[in-house]
Amino acid sequence: METDRISNIRIVLVGTTHPGNIGAAARAMKTMGLSRLYLVQPKRFPCAEATARASGADDILTAAQICETLPEALTGAGMVIATTARVRALPWPLMEPRQMAKTLITQTTSNECAIVFGREDSGLSNQELQFCHAAVTIPAADNFSSLNLAAAVQILAYEIRLAWLQSNETERSKPSVSLATSEQMELFYAHLEQAMIDLDFFNPEKPKQLLRRLRRLFNRAGLEVSEVQILRGLLTAAQKAANKSAKKPG
Ligand code: SAH
Repeated sequence: METDRISNIRIVLVGTTHPGNIGAAARAMKTMGLSRLYLVQPKRFPCAEATARASGADDILTAAQICETLPEALTGAGMVIATTARVRALPWPLMEPRQMAKTLITQTTSNECAIVFGREDSGLSNQELQFCHAAVTIPAADNFSSLNLAAAVQILAYEIRLAWLQSNETERSKPSVSLATSEQMELFYAHLEQAMIDLDFFNPEKPKQLLRRLRRLFNRAGLEVSEVQILRGLLTAAQKAANKSAKKPG
């Protein structure tokens, strides 16, 4: 059913300054059949201005989940897409809006998905980008590429609706693989970091770009639950072996 599939997609707004944008984003979502809104540290919410701009989509505002951190807003999500208007120092895998929408519609059979939007003035930080599998950029004019936040939500929600309408029955019922959730990936990254320290492969005093690069690699791969289990088993075995060799005399 449409509502089942679409309800696996959540919209996450990080650090929104203007409550009017939150209301307009809720309206944009509702017109395209999306309903799950997550707000990470909104500057002002709830707020009459948000309700006014929602023009009837206030049910989405009432049900919105307010979160302290981005990882909290991503709990349970197997596929996470960032949105960005600009090119980054360490480029993240980029998707076209249409490709992103098709991917999400495929993934929603077995996974929860999230699209993350940044602050009006500064977008998403590089640190926040690291929680995402890929980034999507709306191909706007080169010299004026930053859209209003709610306008960006509208365009991407529309692409998701189009992808949904264009997907056929077979595609809709085909199960996709179970991707590791955001919190399982965070546990894996913490384990990876500790194992690299134990193996003397990584000096936490001089992290450079290593952790970010490894996150990019594994996020790009889109790991399944069973694959994360294998990798964590491998890390544990390596840690044990390192411990044994450290104890050996000479
Ligand atoms: N100057 C900011 C722009 C923020 S606009 C920056 O450097 O990123 C607020 C939010 O709207 C962005 O974080 C992003 O989520 C969305 N947005 C704006 N323009 C976009 C575009 N061209 N493609 C994708 N998302 C965009």
